[in-house]
Amino acid sequence: MITKTAFDFCAFFVLAVCFFTGCRWKREYVFQRKVLLGFIGLNMILALMSILNQCILYYGWKYGDDALILLEVTKTIAYICNAWMPAVFSSYILCVAGIARARKKLFYYIFYLPYIVCTILVLTNPWHHKIFHYVVNRDYYRGPLASVLFFSALFYVITGVYFLVRYQKAMERQRMFGMASAIMIAVVFATIQYRCSYIRVELMGVTLACLAMLLNVEFNMNDIDTRSGCFNRRAFQAMVRRNAIAKSHYFMVSVRFTNISNDLRQCDEDTETRMLQYLGGYFQKLNSSLQIYYCNHGTFILVLVNKEERYHERLIKDLVDMFGNGEFEFENLKLPMAVEICQAHVPEELSYMYEINEFVDFKGDGEGGQFQLYDAAVLENIRRENAVRTALQSAISERRLDVVIQPIVDLKTGKIIAGEALTRLRDPALGMVYPGEFIPIAEGSNLIVELGEYVLEEVCKLLQNHAMDAVEYVEINLAPYQILQSDLTARFMEIMNRYGVGPERINLEITEMVASDDRKNYSKTLRELRKAGFTFSLDDFGTGYSNLARLFHHKFRNIKIDKSLLWDSSENEIARDFLEGMIQTIHHMDALIIQEGVETREQLEYVKAQGVDYVQGYIFSKPMEIQDFIDYITE
Ligand code: C2E
Ligand code: MG
Ligand code: MG
Repeated sequence: MITKTAFDFCAFFVLAVCFFTGCRWKREYVFQRKVLLGFIGLNMILALMSILNQCILYYGWKYGDDALILLEVTKTIAYICNAWMPAVFSSYILCVAGIARARKKLFYYIFYLPYIVCTILVLTNPWHHKIFHYVVNRDYYRGPLASVLFFSALFYVITGVYFLVRYQKAMERQRMFGMASAIMIAVVFATIQYRCSYIRVELMGVTLACLAMLLNVEFNMNDIDTRSGCFNRRAFQAMVRRNAIAKSHYFMVSVRFTNISNDLRQCDEDTETRMLQYLGGYFQKLNSSLQIYYCNHGTFILVLVNKEERYHERLIKDLVDMFGNGEFEFENLKLPMAVEICQAHVPEELSYMYEINEFVDFKGDGEGGQFQLYDAAVLENIRRENAVRTALQSAISERRLDVVIQPIVDLKTGKIIAGEALTRLRDPALGMVYPGEFIPIAEGSNLIVELGEYVLEEVCKLLQNHAMDAVEYVEINLAPYQILQSDLTARFMEIMNRYGVGPERINLEITEMVASDDRKNYSKTLRELRKAGFTFSLDDFGTGYSNLARLFHHKFRNIKIDKSLLWDSSENEIARDFLEGMIQTIHHMDALIIQEGVETREQLEYVKAQGVDYVQGYIFSKPMEIQDFIDYITE
């Protein structure tokens, strides 16, 4: 009796350890974990029944018929476990491969049919005894229908292996290894018991298989973010791949705590960790099927696979309730929380990996205050931004960005005294893109620096043309980020020396924002440029709210009054008074005035009457291709 039950004893205790360890591990792949726990549980019951059965066989015979009933009961329970195990195991493979719940209902009806038939057969066995039978002398007979159970098990093992092979790309190596080794161990041990029935190791084999799955599939520490205890980005990518192959639909929500580092920096490291864990646990409570990933610092990604819309709505509502008021209570502390939530359906709204990565890395504009809810539509903007950035980058490196020139006309003489260099991006895929779109995208990165040097170089080439002797200088826009580069002057001079163009031919346009900011970084570079011989215009004057006194610390060659001020002044008396006042003030300061955006005859007459010096506007010309500009000034 000891030899017959020793392996079952061992199996039972190992399974019990697996079961409780598995229960403790709560956060990820909850449904999948539950299926494995179910499988382990069934095996535990099976081990227990097997041990009980042997005990009754050895010690229970004194009790006569009662022992027989007990034998039947334990065997029936063992048979039910045996009938269920293969189906549960195969379901587990479906989960690991990512296709649990991803198929039509009919698929599951067919898939679980053998399991239902076996269950009915086993439960009705006491009446028909076609599965197994104990006779009075405690001898055990297999009935003719026992083979149905065998074939059902075979069906599930074969389908399991099929899914494993079919979806192997959806699984990482370690998971694949876990599943394959589990099946192999189970098969080897079952064969041993089949060949030598006195070595009762089949259950032990299944137990080791459970261990292999638990260690390789469930407790994959490579997939866990150690601080939050949630899945990390690696696991996220694997999930995306798995669901893509399985054609699963899922709902994804990113919850980004925009101030998490600032606010938590006030707490200690340990508190931050506890807080992340608390948040992970909180999300898990919202829906037990939720998969939680901590992908970027401060960003949780919540994923609901193959769930109906009402669960999505519920999730969003719960998140809004929790974070909508911009405050969050944790360990009796109230923390201000700035939260951005973004939601998307995959693959309906995001169907490429790069789009999903954009979603994960998405940062809102921060304009929503403490709480902001976005949907996938904002990603459309990000996508456009990325496309424009890439197009601009290649246009610059392939030197096919267009530089156009808009003439600036002296109102007294009617002659073109200068031109402003502006840029146009003509992309094969995007078509014509205007600076209003690509300059803000380039601004703040090295791209604007490259663009600035590109424009300067093109302008230098233009200025080498003798026809350009007819104009005094060309205006070039200088972006704030460019001015922050400490080597700007040296680089500009290098380019100009290369073309033999002197700095007096270039007038740099800076904005009010730069001019009124007396941070050292700006003023140092501006001083250097001035020393090198460049002059400046103040661009878009009247759009900022700058301190005039500080603005006019600098000496400007021209002040360019923004077009909006002119346009407003025709309708609005306050704007008109302001414009006229400004023109007076600027004249006192010994700078020339360029009025931008003059489109109509009335506007032209008006600015003339006000004493504006130069005009840049569609009334004379739109920005022109370089060759057109040369033709225009030579005429
Ligand atoms: P900006 O420097 O104020 O340039 C004047 C803008 O007003 C140009 O728009 C020009 O086409 C437009 N404009 C001129 N006259 C009229 C008019 O009569 N009516 C109307 N409706 N518009 C007129 P554009 O070329 O689209 O450039 C927009 C802004 O993009 C520029 O404003 C400038 O700030 C920036 N930008 C353009 N090219 C460059 C560049 O190479 N480098 C930098 N840093 N910024 C640039
Ligand atoms: Mg300008
Ligand atoms: Mg302007």
